[in-house]
Amino acid sequence: MRILSIILFITLFSCKSPPEKKEETLSFQDIHNQAILVDSHNDVLLQTMEKGVILDQDLTGITHADLDRLKQGGVDVQFFSVWCDGNQTNPFKYALVEMDSLNAIANRNPDKIIEVANSKEMMEAVNEHKIAAFFGVEGGHMIENDLAKLDSLFARGTRYMTLTWNNSTSWATSAADETALEGGALNSEGRKGLSGFGKQIVNRMNTLGMMVDISHVGEQTFWDVIATTTKPVIASHSSVHAICPVPRNLKDDQIKAIAKNGGVVQINFYSGFISPEYEEKRDVFLLNHRSENDSLLASGINIYVAEELLFAKYTDKVQSFRPTLEQLMQHIVHVIDLVGVDYVGLGSDFDGIPSAPIGLDDVTTYPIITNALVEKGYSTEDINKILGGNLIRVLEKNESNSL
Ligand SMILES: [Zn+2]
Repeated sequence: MRILSIILFITLFSCKSPPEKKEETLSFQDIHNQAILVDSHNDVLLQTMEKGVILDQDLTGITHADLDRLKQGGVDVQFFSVWCDGNQTNPFKYALVEMDSLNAIANRNPDKIIEVANSKEMMEAVNEHKIAAFFGVEGGHMIENDLAKLDSLFARGTRYMTLTWNNSTSWATSAADETALEGGALNSEGRKGLSGFGKQIVNRMNTLGMMVDISHVGEQTFWDVIATTTKPVIASHSSVHAICPVPRNLKDDQIKAIAKNGGVVQINFYSGFISPEYEEKRDVFLLNHRSENDSLLASGINIYVAEELLFAKYTDKVQSFRPTLEQLMQHIVHVIDLVGVDYVGLGSDFDGIPSAPIGLDDVTTYPIITNALVEKGYSTEDINKILGGNLIRVLEKNESNSL
């Protein structure tokens, strides 16, 4: 017995452990803490403005995110979405007000969060354990057909622009319009896709070093972008069409094209983009609470906040039709199996969505994704790429040879 133990001891320690052995000793929480976690899409700025609350307060139960909870969830780099819908009369001005609101928070909390302009400043912030904040402008309508306004938004720290939201612009058609059964808007040239001016905008973004975001755009716009861009693109918050076939999700040929372009697909957590059954169950729920929903809308709040308030009131009912975390993981796995581990990341859409898979209740819950990746057998190196490395690679590529 003793001899056997000695032999076992010699066998175990005489050969160098393979790197995998070392990884097994790291807990998922260690891996999560050591990784640079980048979320490419969070709508909390709009939420704080609409609800009259401030990001450096404890907003548990009110929003998905606040400053301390972002930190608690291990978020190192946050792209804050700057959004208004296409009906806003002065969207550019509105964008600046949203940016000012984060500016005020950053000025008041210099030890916790800092607005950064590039990947170098981002790394400095991460090393100082501060949240590195970029802006992502959601919807080309925010630049009001003016390249000078695009430049201004870049100067304020915008490092991606989503070419369309659900509304099209005169220079790019959205997924919603391109798939509308009838009467979907066309571009100024009377067709789907990017117009000549749309191509100029993509070129200008490439020159500035602002990532082109293809979430929300229609398929024709997508393929026009791929043919036009000289830099890798992102889908800041889009999931997989093959699993959940809604117009906003990306088809496999689009995912392959993004990989070929060197870009990245940041998976959206919205239940309706994760599970094909979700929308129908949600519609039934809303129908059952129609009068309550109508009175909320009549009070002047927007349709998304109304839904969110109803969901918060009837949590048990809503819980029954939220997708599982595993269903979300299948979207990540699908991209990896299709094109490899270098082209997928996280674009939660927290605070822009009324429902996420079970367990993903707010920004403090990101570690459960890391845990699921560990359980699926991905290496620490791969997990680091998924949690942020891939998006950082694309950001750096966009910075190279830019102004
Ligand atoms: Zn969106």
